Amino acid sequence: MRKNLLGLFLVLTFLVPSAALAQTTVKITSQERKMAEAITAAQLKDYLYYVASDEMGGRDTPSLGLDLTAKFIGTLLSRWGFKPAGDNGSFFQKMDMHRDLVNQASTVATLGGQNLVYGTDFFANPIAGNLSNLPLVFGGEGWMIKSKGIEPYKDLDVRGKIVVVYTGNFPRGVKPQEIFGSGKRGEAWADPMTYAKQNGAVGVIAIATPDVEQRWQVIRPLRERGNYVIDKLEDLNNKQLPTIYVSSKTAENLFKGESNDFGKIAEIYKSPATLPSFALSAGKTASMTVLTTAERAATQNIVAVWEGSDPVLKNEYVAIGAHYDHEGTNPNARGDDKIWNGADDDGSGTVAVLSIAEALTKAPKRPKRSVLFVWHAGEEHGLWGSEYFNKFPTVDIKQVVAQLNIDMIGRSLDPNNIIKCGQNKPCNEELSGPNGIYVIGSEMMSTTLGAITKGTNDAYLKIGYDYKYDDPNDKNRFFFRSDHFNYAQNGIPIVFWFDGVHEDYHQPTDTADKIDYAKMEKVTRTIYLTLLEVSDLKERPKVDKQLPPELTRR
Ligand SMILES: [Zn+2]
Repeated sequence: MRKNLLGLFLVLTFLVPSAALAQTTVKITSQERKMAEAITAAQLKDYLYYVASDEMGGRDTPSLGLDLTAKFIGTLLSRWGFKPAGDNGSFFQKMDMHRDLVNQASTVATLGGQNLVYGTDFFANPIAGNLSNLPLVFGGEGWMIKSKGIEPYKDLDVRGKIVVVYTGNFPRGVKPQEIFGSGKRGEAWADPMTYAKQNGAVGVIAIATPDVEQRWQVIRPLRERGNYVIDKLEDLNNKQLPTIYVSSKTAENLFKGESNDFGKIAEIYKSPATLPSFALSAGKTASMTVLTTAERAATQNIVAVWEGSDPVLKNEYVAIGAHYDHEGTNPNARGDDKIWNGADDDGSGTVAVLSIAEALTKAPKRPKRSVLFVWHAGEEHGLWGSEYFNKFPTVDIKQVVAQLNIDMIGRSLDPNNIIKCGQNKPCNEELSGPNGIYVIGSEMMSTTLGAITKGTNDAYLKIGYDYKYDDPNDKNRFFFRSDHFNYAQNGIPIVFWFDGVHEDYHQPTDTADKIDYAKMEKVTRTIYLTLLEVSDLKERPKVDKQLPPELTRR
């Protein structure tokens, strides 16, 4: 392995652009080629058929299937002699989590003098609160859509009050892309809960629309249970307002004597016209007490170290990772297939990292720097595992010189089955081919890391590296959509390998039989050699470029 890259930079940097230089400076020895051949398509396939099997249930966070996958990986790491780098000498970094449930027995509401019966007249969101005798303002559908001039509280003071809205899941007559495409949430548009809070309201009462009323018994248990959050990552400043849903009968009583009674409001709701917004009569107030109970759970990142051989450099780490979670099982899914196997996403990255770990154990020598392996949980819920690891690292995070992230490298485009991308339809026209892969982020922070990444591939298998998403203005925002993002925020230069979206992306049909294992072998071997090149660099890859400002906010 020759490490003359930095030396050449000093001499030639004025003569040749660095990218052109890099193509010729990484040299792959025959020993390194042999080391890479320890990674095989058969091995990747064996591991993936296990990790993405139905028995793993789609590896939701948290779930038994995810824990079993963690155990499987941890057992192998232990047999292979890796150093545990999780909590308390284990391979696991535990993340405590909870979700809130409505405590129905202790949740009460009074509306315009009328005591409501839980379950029949109303139910609540699992957001605790205690509001007593507060004035009410009707805010129509409650949505704010600036481009359409819909701003229900523009001329109404809702501060310290409870807002009443009449809305389904989505405002009538508006297409999702008209809202989400119109600009930032909270500025160009806002959902009823966000908009109420922004305007200083303290609670929300949502009247059930005919749709909601019809499915009251189905919707109720879904709303009464919150989503899981990692305890230490919970953003308490971002808590929503206490919210109850009331029946239309309840609303009829409430609006009696108002200039717009509920019959009139329901009539307007059936037409395309915008609902009026107005303050309810002064005498009418609402009280609500919502109590919640936390349901506790836990999940884990898997963390291991392969110690480096250099007495000094072994204190630094090259990190490599993937997320081993996916979207789980949906018993209410249409059709027979209820399990989101996540073979490509990110079973492929999970087993690629595992195979790289195994290859290291078979290599004739250790890399100079240590290699830090992190399999992240909860990526699909919002990059939880990588955020947690970067906020509460189990190693000195300042010593991590680069992070290589593998998220989806197993699929390739079949030229006989190109599905064009239309609105909201799964498509595959952007999927990389059998000899191609997208490389994202490698050139955004560190010239050296970019050059090593490109140079390794050029000197080895010459896979078609496609940099088209390596752009701060990428409309797909792929840079924000996987775990490397949290490392980059921490100042660690990253590389992200990704095959592109396809027709089975986030579908139950993302299964192990659809993977191109020959491609996976090529990409995994190349990433392994990239890792070795970075591990043996004389100096850690310098962060010589500011992350573009567009890339520092999710
Ligand atoms: Zn995903």
